[in-house]
Amino acid sequence: MAIPKHLQLEFVTPERAIVHDHVDEVELPGEEGDFGVLPGHAPLLAALRTGEMWYRKGSETRRAFIAGGFVEVVPDRVSILAPVAERAEDIDVARAEAAKRRAEERLAKASVVDFDAERARIALLRAITRLQISRQGRPPRG
Ligand code: ATP
Repeated sequence: MAIPKHLQLEFVTPERAIVHDHVDEVELPGEEGDFGVLPGHAPLLAALRTGEMWYRKGSETRRAFIAGGFVEVVPDRVSILAPVAERAEDIDVARAEAAKRRAEERLAKASVVDFDAERARIALLRAITRLQISRQGRPPRG
């Protein structure tokens, strides 16, 4: 079978479509580490962790925040279902900074093995990841 030229990227959450496009390359934060997908990739089903995903269309690269979920890869399609995700340009920086502050305050008060401390650590990871992606997703300042 001929190698497909592009990948159909379908990236959704239960709330909305994040990306629906023909792309050339996709990079994902897998549970077992980051991995890239090019057209013609072998079929694959993988769990995702909280992190950054990006995809390239021609010379343009776009980024998004992804909080877990699953991906199904076939040679000409990448289908991502994530419980929560945002395109880099849709990340509300003030909201992520407030979430980061709240999580840091909760962590400062919590004991090390506390259940709330674990939740705060997850919230902190989400906030820091959103802030990093948002910074990288913007054109550099001249
Ligand atoms: P917060 O404490 O600010 O609500 P959170 O990490 O608890 O943050 P989530 O449960 O991850 O929030 O997301 C709830 C909804 O709000 C999702 O639709 C998510 O896309 C959106 N969301 C959360 N934080 C942001 C943000 N900083 N910018 C844009 N959308 C966000």
